[in-house]
Amino acid sequence: MAFTGSAQQLTTLALYRKGESDLVCRDGTWFLIATCEVPDRPVAVPDGFLGVDLGIANLATTSDGAHHSGKGLNAVRHRHRELRRRLQAKATKSAKRLLKKRRRAEARFAADVNHTIAKRIVTEAERTGRGIALEDLQGIRERVRLRKPQRVTLHAWSFRRLGGFIAYRAARAGVAVVHVDPAYTSQECSVCGHVDKRSRPGQAIFICTSCGFAEHADVNAARNIAARGVAGWAVSHAAGDAA
Ligand SMILES: [Zn+2]
Repeated sequence: MAFTGSAQQLTTLALYRKGESDLVCRDGTWFLIATCEVPDRPVAVPDGFLGVDLGIANLATTSDGAHHSGKGLNAVRHRHRELRRRLQAKATKSAKRLLKKRRRAEARFAADVNHTIAKRIVTEAERTGRGIALEDLQGIRERVRLRKPQRVTLHAWSFRRLGGFIAYRAARAGVAVVHVDPAYTSQECSVCGHVDKRSRPGQAIFICTSCGFAEHADVNAARNIAARGVAGWAVSHAAGDAA
């Protein structure tokens, strides 16, 4: 059987193809889904950590100050939701078909955005020899529950899936990943360690009420996450040595 795809996809297929392939039809296009088992690379000992703060306005912000915006993503989602509402009002067969198609297009778009962001972050960590520190997913769910106005714009993929994509890519690249406790990462000063919710007067603003340090709130949070990643790695490493 002949395959088409990017050079990288074809190499992966040639090296790691496993088991049977499925031929499926989605919205008039045929896809051949081949299963590959790609072994993870051994994890390299990290020289520091790149902290990643997951959010909604910025889907991901790193401790280096890189913002990966979800702006386009949210706009597309709102458009799709409007269309969906109109289609749901009509209960015709063609409306249902169109609805299904839109839902798939939306999911594909979201997956593309997540893959792109995950790739950039993992490439940056790999290039600089660092590990990646992510907030513990359970903690993110807790935090999201508290922010009611933002919950409306939240979709499962815009948040938790991105963390999963990053962890998956990191494992493939041999980049260490540490999940950290996300408590107070947005209220803690990444310079002096002072914790005060008044240090964050606005969504994007952090100004430490103790030492006066000022930074974009997401970058400050990502730096705290990076620091916790370093501490977390040291703890788990020491435990591993003792065992
Ligand atoms: Zn401070």
